[in-house]
Amino acid sequence: MARIQLQNVRKSFGAVDVIKGVDLDIQKGEFMVFVGPSGCGKSTLLRMISGLEDITSGDLLFDSVRVNALAPSKRGIAMVFQSYALYPHMTVYDNMAFGMKLAKAGKDDIRTRVEKAAKMLQIDHLLDRLPKQLSGGQRQRVAIGRAIVRDPQVFLFDEPLSNLDAALRVQTRLEIAKLHHDMNNVTMIYVTHDQVEAMTLADRICVLRDGIVEQVGTPEELYAQPNSLFVAGFIGSPK
Ligand code: ADP
Ligand code: MG
Repeated sequence: MARIQLQNVRKSFGAVDVIKGVDLDIQKGEFMVFVGPSGCGKSTLLRMISGLEDITSGDLLFDSVRVNALAPSKRGIAMVFQSYALYPHMTVYDNMAFGMKLAKAGKDDIRTRVEKAAKMLQIDHLLDRLPKQLSGGQRQRVAIGRAIVRDPQVFLFDEPLSNLDAALRVQTRLEIAKLHHDMNNVTMIYVTHDQVEAMTLADRICVLRDGIVEQVGTPEELYAQPNSLFVAGFIGSPK
């Protein structure tokens, strides 16, 4: 389950239409970035893909299978948020192991996978610490590690770096790029309002505006041939 298709997907909260007919075909292994102004529906779209939010109408397909009603836990997806939401009373190790314990994985299997993910993210020396004993950047890496341990086929990131200072943002961004490179064929969908993140991470960028897809293309395409001033404003001129 790694190719993701949205077909005329809509979302309303009561009488308010928030997503107004989105068509999008995200390839297996692709790094897709969503950009657009605050309130345009980026988080809602991610939450619908993850199953945390119902789809009002339209279809969501994973590898050509309709999954509109599939439970979030069965979608092979891991989501990383802006606020890391670690369990404060658990060590880094237990935070990372928690999902696998719930899934009744074996102890040795859990240890192997947690240690491998921790090494990948260079937090293997922090496994005995509590979240409050970590920096913001380290906490965010634990949150990413927790996602990796579950071995998802799809990662969804919702502005994962926006709470970090500038230097850490760059470092963690490079780690996410490396992660995508190292995890063969893992599909990533990444929401950001940071132009540099979008331009450097994306295979393709999807520009959203008021619940509608304004343009989809590679960073080069959007930079060279924006189809509106709106897209040019998001992509063309660095802040
Ligand atoms: P973004 O992530 O692009 O900033 P969101 O997806 O969070 O935008 O929100 C899109 C719109 O949907 C906003 O106008 C927001 O107020 C509205 N919205 C989001 N979630 C809910 C909800 N649970 N109930 C009502 N309105 C919501
Ligand atoms: Mg959002």
